[in-house]
Amino acid sequence: MKIRRIVVTGGAGFLGSHLCERLVAAGHDVICVDNFFTSQKSNIAHLLGRPNFELIRHDITHPLWLEVDEIYNLACPAAPGHYQYNPIKTMKTSVLGSINLLGMAKRCRAKILQASTSEVYGDPEIHPQPESYRGNVNPIGPRACYDEGKRAAETLFFDYHRMNKLNIRVVRIFNTYGPRMHPFDGRVVSNFIRQALGGQEISIFGDGSQTRSFCYVDDLVDGLIAMMNGPDEFYGPVNLGNPNEMSIKHLAETVVRMTGSKSKLIQRPLPADDPTQRQPDITLAKAKLGWQPKVSLEDGLSKTIAYFRNLDLEQFRAPTPNY
Ligand code: NAD
Ligand code: UDP
Repeated sequence: MKIRRIVVTGGAGFLGSHLCERLVAAGHDVICVDNFFTSQKSNIAHLLGRPNFELIRHDITHPLWLEVDEIYNLACPAAPGHYQYNPIKTMKTSVLGSINLLGMAKRCRAKILQASTSEVYGDPEIHPQPESYRGNVNPIGPRACYDEGKRAAETLFFDYHRMNKLNIRVVRIFNTYGPRMHPFDGRVVSNFIRQALGGQEISIFGDGSQTRSFCYVDDLVDGLIAMMNGPDEFYGPVNLGNPNEMSIKHLAETVVRMTGSKSKLIQRPLPADDPTQRQPDITLAKAKLGWQPKVSLEDGLSKTIAYFRNLDLEQFRAPTPNY
């Protein structure tokens, strides 16, 4: 195998840390770039002594000068509570961050992958969502900083490709869960598991009839790497996610059963613009990359629950102001 110099921005985060781990294990020269806005060093502490792993504390809204062959751009707060914490910064991270990294890719002639999102489809009127669906995003709502930021980043990637012949890859990631999710990120899987293990009430937003489709992190990382190494001329966008769709109420009941918790489900107000349904159409990923998820919800949840059981919650904090 030819060793490559690979940058992972957001490399200390939930997905990024698993990706770094896999790339380091494969022998690549990995540079993790992160400002630790929504993560902490403990996610990558086990990699710090490895000679082919390097950590740079850096905010991607500022230029970065590195010599690399591949760039995975994962840096961006991803949980609604995190990206709405400072929405202007979220938009800057997607737009200015992409411009800085695309500039680096252009200078180095590096291949560059953008972690986009199912949120580009907004509250979808087409179900399941194929890549050809252009979406139903509210451009002025509380989720817009993230949704429109990611949409603008996709535009930048394709314009750099058309103008500068950059070798780009765009993946649209659907809800992914697993060990190293931030315990206070407010996302549904981390919230439900933390609440169930702590014997607290399980917070269902709305009546819990809204749906999501949950992908285990190992499958998702397989998909990211398959796309980066996939056929040239296949730039995406491509959906990566697990089509196993369920209601949020069903997820809550499953977590309560699997943790053996006595927690009760309670209803909380539904946040504005919360999508009512979401399921990836992964026909394209199957055909072009030969990729599909393998891990069942029960297997994925039991690994995630085991991680949360051993977590010292005192070691985690909510994001700090970040301008
Ligand atoms: P995460 O919050 O755990 O990771 C994001 C990382 O980016 C964190 O380590 C954070 O500190 C870092 N970061 C944020 N702003 C930065 C900046 N300006 N400069 C440098 N680093 C910065 O979230 P995640 O779930 O691992 O998501 C990773 C990527 O995948 C994000 O781009 C997200 O939009 C995308 N994504 C994730 C999911 C999911 O379900 N996990 C779904 C769709 C898309
Ligand atoms: N949700 C919930 N209780 C929680 C956290 C989230 O019912 O404690 C719901 C939320 O309203 C949404 C779904 O779970 O309908 C997924 O939320 P998450 O924040 O994980 O991701 P996203 O909305 O971005 O898909």
